[in-house]
Amino acid sequence: MSREMCYRCFWPKALCWCGSITPMETRTKFVFLMHPKEFKEEKAATGRLTHLCLANSVIHVGVQFDAHDGVQALLRDPANFPVLLYPGRDAQNLARGDFRATDLGGRRLVVLLLDATWSLGRKMLRLSPSLQWLPRIMFTPTAPSRFVIKQQPEVGCLSTLEAAHELLVALETSGLDRYPLPEQMLGLFQRMQDYQLRCAADPDRAGYRHRAYRPPAERTPLRGRSGARRARVFQVPREENEIGHLPVREAP
Ligand SMILES: [Zn+2]
Repeated sequence: MSREMCYRCFWPKALCWCGSITPMETRTKFVFLMHPKEFKEEKAATGRLTHLCLANSVIHVGVQFDAHDGVQALLRDPANFPVLLYPGRDAQNLARGDFRATDLGGRRLVVLLLDATWSLGRKMLRLSPSLQWLPRIMFTPTAPSRFVIKQQPEVGCLSTLEAAHELLVALETSGLDRYPLPEQMLGLFQRMQDYQLRCAADPDRAGYRHRAYRPPAERTPLRGRSGARRARVFQVPREENEIGHLPVREAP
């Protein structure tokens, strides 16, 4: 197969996803702050596909964003209401109605998402004080992760595509936005996963696994520090005290 890449979805051209994606309009602007490690190394990373699904979204790859012109312009714009998706004790939970459309005061909601593991996400935040002072939002997922490709370190650990889906469900519930195409992200996610499971089961392929993936229900979630390191920023890991409540806000 040709290894020529599609530079929109970053898949080989023969497998390009772009034709099956209808960019969805939202009032909210989504800003994916992607750690370079996520950009380079995560084979089943879904951040880029999520961005392609959302017309009003942008990806910035980097580790610190205080000197990033595009991000800083969004934060400074008085027409915007920027928030950080970052679960924890002081985050406003959209599912509980903590944050509603009237709180925006007519401004545009801008949600910044750290597309990284918890440990890398914390590092990004530590290096970007302007993000530390943003109001924080979170959601309670309506479904556990559907991800069977990567062994999810925690039962509730979500891929970026699933997290964006859950976030949109929560934004709609709170009256902050409309979610016009809920089937698209989950359908795309399912198709990507089916493809990867087929590859994993194909003995002619380099990445062939000699043992098939077990269904998620039969897997044992990783515990301890290794699992906590791999859990993603979108959800509070089980070891809440260790990871979720660290004092990431530092004096300005
Ligand atoms: Zn493509």
